[in-house]
Amino acid sequence: MPKIKGTHTAMKSGMLAAEAAFDAIVEADGGIPAAELSAYVASLEQSWVRRELHRARNFRPAFKFGLLFGTLIAGIDQVVFRGRAPWTLKHGHADHETLGHKDRHKPIDYPSPDGTVSFDILSSVYISNTNHEENQPVHLTLKDAGVPVEINLARYDAPEQRYCPAGVYEILTDEDGSNPQLRINAQNCVHCKTCDIKDPTQNIVWVAPEGGGGPNYPNM
Ligand code: SF4
Repeated sequence: MPKIKGTHTAMKSGMLAAEAAFDAIVEADGGIPAAELSAYVASLEQSWVRRELHRARNFRPAFKFGLLFGTLIAGIDQVVFRGRAPWTLKHGHADHETLGHKDRHKPIDYPSPDGTVSFDILSSVYISNTNHEENQPVHLTLKDAGVPVEINLARYDAPEQRYCPAGVYEILTDEDGSNPQLRINAQNCVHCKTCDIKDPTQNIVWVAPEGGGGPNYPNM
């Protein structure tokens, strides 16, 4: 079940970072902790997270050669070499460069959440206990306030409305549909950083919020 395994990988990586931060604070003994957590990099390199990610490194890039060749190459990489092939394939482009113009795609008609196995976005954000102090500096900003409407909406139908899992980005209009504007509900951000990676114009700036802000999943 790759999704669960991927989640374990992210959790383990986060735990190693937390342990390195804790050790740095203890070592500082009341002083100022080191600015760089070099122990985190070392522990990550020695963990199963590094080995697992290294073995899977060629899987996705293989499909830049198309489905047929991609399947063949990925099969050789994973079945014959078991992720230890003496080569590393490159993606060849950044993720945000892959978005297609809205005129070349049809909207996907997703079924509405049924409230049993699927839920609406804001209900899911609610159970993540996401919170940011109201007077903290905004951690999501734009380099150019005109880009979301002039480029992102015009060319890509404002994809930030759909890829953000927390409904942070909304295009608001007047009642007659005119005067579109992007609203950023930064308070709801669950810190997945998708917008930082996927925004086609790289106009969204995500920075770490104040300590303690963000999701607080119970029972984990
Ligand atoms: S980091 Fe994730 S949750 Fe936060 S605004 Fe970006 S896409 Fe949405």
